[in-house]
Amino acid sequence: MTEKIGCQVCQDTGWVVEQTEKGPVARRCKCFDEKQFQLLLRQARIPKRYEDCTLENYEIHHPSQGDALKISKKFVKNFPAQDVGLLYIGPCGVGKTHLAVAVIRELILQKGAYCVFCDFRELIRDIQNSYTPDSEVSETEILAPVFNCEVLVLDELGAKRPTAWVEETIFYIINYRYNQKRMTIFTSNYLDIEEEPDRREQYYKKADETLVDRIGVRLRSRLYEMCKVVNIAGEDYRKMAKQASYRF
Ligand SMILES: [Zn+2]
Repeated sequence: MTEKIGCQVCQDTGWVVEQTEKGPVARRCKCFDEKQFQLLLRQARIPKRYEDCTLENYEIHHPSQGDALKISKKFVKNFPAQDVGLLYIGPCGVGKTHLAVAVIRELILQKGAYCVFCDFRELIRDIQNSYTPDSEVSETEILAPVFNCEVLVLDELGAKRPTAWVEETIFYIINYRYNQKRMTIFTSNYLDIEEEPDRREQYYKKADETLVDRIGVRLRSRLYEMCKVVNIAGEDYRKMAKQASYRF
């Protein structure tokens, strides 16, 4: 049985032999990088709705978004030499997840890094499900990529309130990554500092809970040790886009 050959240059071996003055030298074919990129991209499990998010197509409608983009680009450039991850904080629709996804996409493309995207609510659900007797996957199987990837995106931190024992697991994961010097990128809709009445009134409802309310003091203080905080303000551009389209 013959398989269809995808790459005419290397006949899918991944290697090309070049004749040099010192004799033949084997080097990687261009298709090898592309295959690696596609494999790493699949492993990253970026949700479909975010798969086209790049640093280039991030829209800036507020100065803080410009700053956030700069920090994101710098993070990619410096990887893996930096010590801390990122914590994007801001209201809905300012592009926090967009930036987090764009960063790991660039890290995969430019640095061949092993990155994983993880939704906080889904992680909690998966951990909880793994404890049920008829679960087909073990907690270890679910958590292996979360523990081991070079860069983890934990999206929507605090979006679901974990039970005490799940909270313990989440702290364990995050703490483990911190101790192993593996970087984590978090996003959260929850305003972090209570003493910011201007921002709070502008972008959040008075009754809104803060990040500490949602994830506890211990985890929040760990986050501060392991992340640079990137505050993003601005209008919800998904809402803006919707409103704009109503005018026509
Ligand atoms: Zn090839």
